[in-house]
Amino acid sequence: MSNKDDFKSYRVQSPVKASLRIASIYLICGAAWILFSDRALNTLISDKELFAFFSMIKGWFYMVMTALMLFYLIYRTTFRMRVTERKLHNHYTEMLNNREELRQAAFRDQLTGLPNRLALFENLTILKDASLFYIDLDDFKYVNDTHGHVFGDLLIKEISTRLLKELKPSEQLYRLGGDEWVLVTRQPKDRLQERVEMLLSIFEKPFVVGEHRKHMTGCVGISHFPSHGRTLEQLLKNADIALYHIKSHAKNSFAIYDVSLSIPLQHRSDMERLLRHALDNGEFELHYQPQIHLESSRVQGFEALLRWNSPELGRIPPDQFIPIAEETQLIVPIGEWVLRTACEFIRTIHQDGDDQTIVSVNVSVVQLIEHRFVERVLDILQETGLDPRYLELEVTESMLIESLDLIADKLSRLKDHGITIALDDFGRGFSSLNHLMKLPIKTLKIDKSFIDQIPDHLENQPLTGLVIGMAKGLGMKVVAEGVETYIQLEYLKRYDCDCIQGYLFSKPLPAIIAKEWIKTAG
Ligand code: C2E
Ligand code: MG
Ligand code: MG
Repeated sequence: MSNKDDFKSYRVQSPVKASLRIASIYLICGAAWILFSDRALNTLISDKELFAFFSMIKGWFYMVMTALMLFYLIYRTTFRMRVTERKLHNHYTEMLNNREELRQAAFRDQLTGLPNRLALFENLTILKDASLFYIDLDDFKYVNDTHGHVFGDLLIKEISTRLLKELKPSEQLYRLGGDEWVLVTRQPKDRLQERVEMLLSIFEKPFVVGEHRKHMTGCVGISHFPSHGRTLEQLLKNADIALYHIKSHAKNSFAIYDVSLSIPLQHRSDMERLLRHALDNGEFELHYQPQIHLESSRVQGFEALLRWNSPELGRIPPDQFIPIAEETQLIVPIGEWVLRTACEFIRTIHQDGDDQTIVSVNVSVVQLIEHRFVERVLDILQETGLDPRYLELEVTESMLIESLDLIADKLSRLKDHGITIALDDFGRGFSSLNHLMKLPIKTLKIDKSFIDQIPDHLENQPLTGLVIGMAKGLGMKVVAEGVETYIQLEYLKRYDCDCIQGYLFSKPLPAIIAKEWIKTAG
């Protein structure tokens, strides 16, 4: 029966109508009885005594019948009332159950079954001595971009399960959405570090998703009641600030909130706002740093390095604004502008007579995983009329490790079109020869941190030399970055390094000066 029908059957008659009905039945029956029974007695019995006796019987009979009828009517009414009452009760319980189910759904995260953000605000009424761990995965966006959302979802579930296992009985875990969780703990303040380190240990082993084993790391921002806030909103905001701070400095690490952390965040949001219009306002400029070929002492190419001259904020170094441009995807149009401007620049160098000079352009992983990246590069080469062999694209090690398969294919296609691929900042992160062998890398750029390790006495520590030897053994060209001293230069010469890029020869130069520079250097 539908709910509508249910309600129809609950509809109770008006009390006046029901009473009038019973009274009229009683009246009609009574009147009929008096009328017809007396008449029947008169015709059937003539004896007076017998008549009196039957009149009495008739009276009793009338009373019994009336009692029976009353019994029946009252019984029927109360029975109906009981049925209606039971139906109403059932309906009410059903409504309560539905409401609880709705409540459960609203407060649970669909994917993991964990309580969600609403539940956090609903449950966490007592903040006293609570600390919030704001957990966020490192580089999760690359997982979704490269392995797909289904894989990403399964990974989130696996991580949630592992976090749950790590929970103490007094702690609660909430999923805020995406790759973010909040853990509420009541550990004493002086034991928070110990607690968060234990929590981060869940990332030591890889996560198994289907046939894949995926290594993930995460960062945690921590806020504590009452020193970092007295309301849940404040605690969450400050844990988020701590998280943001640690994410921009390290991976698989944590930070406890401190007031000083809020200041750079304001600067960051200003940067993000202004960056959105920087390209249209023509605030970007490319500087070019020469790369000197050691054997011939000639300029063999330039690395294009982006500069942002913001009228409001002044000159911002690329290390600061490029991560923001990557997060906001602005790096895609900015990167295209860089590529086009660099190609045009090197064309003018060729037209001036140095027609073998190459240009190296840094490419972000966000650009690389773009659907039409390869086509966009080829379009720009065609538009600017630059032969692909004079373009080198620099990619960094960390981005290759994030999304190896997807990127390997794109890099191979670019290589097939004659473009050179350089591995930038080699030695800064975790280097895997295995990865290098899978990729069409022609140039290895040794990071400044490696060059800085070159000892004052050339005989000591041939580590940098070994790296050069290895890269050359694999058939690569080696460029040393950040060369500042003659001792470093001598060392690199001795180990047969191909090219040098560093302040020893030149800082990155504006286009006009770079053009002059090549003339004097050549
Ligand atoms: P990178 O690609 O490794 O560039 C080399 C950086 O080292 C440049 O810093 C350069 O100025 C600096 N450098 C070169 N020689 C020396 C030296 O002898 N001593 C010292 N102390 N530094 C030296 P810059 O221009 O600040 O760029 C920093 C990073 O920003 C670049 O590192 C690159 O990763 C990124 N970047 C720059 N332009 C772009 C761009 O157009 N697109 C992308 N995606 N990233 C860019
Ligand atoms: Mg570079
Ligand atoms: Mg570099």
